[in-house]
Amino acid sequence: MIPTGPGEQTASQAIIDLERQYLIQNYSRYPLLLRRGKGCYVYDAGGKRYLDLIAGIGVNALGHAHPRIVKIIREQAALLIHCSNLYYHDFQAPLARRLAETSGLARVFFANSGTEAMEGALKMIRCHGRRIGAEKFEVVSLENSFHGRTLGALSVTGQEKYRVDFEPLLPGVRFIPPNDIAALEEAVGERTAGIVIEAIQGEGGVYPVSVEYLRKARELADRHNALLVFDEIQCGVGRPGTYYAYQLADPVVLPDVMVAAKPLACGLPLGAIVASETAAATIGPGMHGSTFGGGALACRVALEFFDILGPLLPSITKTGGCFRTELIELARHFGFIKQVRGFGLMIGVELDIPGQQFVTGAMDQGLLINCTHDVVLRFLPPYIITENEIDRAIDILKKVLKKAPVTASRPA
Ligand SMILES: *Cc1c(COP(=O)(O)O)cnc(C)c1O
Repeated sequence: MIPTGPGEQTASQAIIDLERQYLIQNYSRYPLLLRRGKGCYVYDAGGKRYLDLIAGIGVNALGHAHPRIVKIIREQAALLIHCSNLYYHDFQAPLARRLAETSGLARVFFANSGTEAMEGALKMIRCHGRRIGAEKFEVVSLENSFHGRTLGALSVTGQEKYRVDFEPLLPGVRFIPPNDIAALEEAVGERTAGIVIEAIQGEGGVYPVSVEYLRKARELADRHNALLVFDEIQCGVGRPGTYYAYQLADPVVLPDVMVAAKPLACGLPLGAIVASETAAATIGPGMHGSTFGGGALACRVALEFFDILGPLLPSITKTGGCFRTELIELARHFGFIKQVRGFGLMIGVELDIPGQQFVTGAMDQGLLINCTHDVVLRFLPPYIITENEIDRAIDILKKVLKKAPVTASRPA
């Protein structure tokens, strides 16, 4: 039974008040209490429907309450949710095989989140360098990147605002501007143990890194015996229309290590480090671990997701292309839209005015979108979104963008 009615406003307020009292105040949330979802829609406490184009920040890859995912969770929850990594269960090794086969890499470690997978990848970088020499511990990372919130992952996150309160962080990290090949050549050397790249920067505003840049990073990593790590947490696992964003390059630029998380288990927490044999060999018995990582329930859901994902990839490319075309059309009517970019269903619309106003505007109209990097409207819809739903989103966006302040114009 979905409760609706006049009492709901008060119910939402009570939860908001309770949050203010008992939660650490690190999030600034929208005043929206969600109760359920179905497909690409979510419903608030009052029963109002929202088209969900952010999907739990790229997590709910198959939307909400996908029948096959619901069925698998019910079944597996009644059998075995978790048994720790002291024992085997039926799903971890087959899921590792899927990750290895789809990525072109060899071996997997399971974590519970993106940042935790990144943290493990950084440990691999450190081990790798240390075996070569005490001085080889530097990591080259990109400005404007985002790799997570733990101290290690934060140390390689190229955005000052996330790091500043926690310094000093890991030593030996060099930040360079993305797509600047000369800077990359300058930064990578004998002391470099690893290079960390998001092939499409997500949090930073949906900025793709060029294929030439990825190739140069591969070449330099080989020349200086460093591990090339791709953070595919946001841009990977189907979202770009290929399994992983580095596979958009033809021929593929294969990393030594790839980390994935967000959509991997359709809403259950699961992260993965996927590594080449050589990179995987840095981690021996007892050197790394996780109590929750790779649990039976999460792994079984991820396996089911991979079964659904394979046949879905072409439609991700197609609906994503259709969405971008409509957004580009929209841009012709609104001068403050600077650029539409992205691949598959990872799309950014850069404005030359602040984007936050449109997020709340869209919410009032029953559309959930997100603004990142202050001026980029970010769309990470479920992979099952239809062209009809995209049309609907565009209609709402049109209405919302019309309400832009009249003073809005391109800065000189
Ligand atoms: C979200 C994100 C992370 C962090 O993942 P969490 O699951 O939030 O810890 C790391 N890297 C990228 C590119 C991300 O988008």
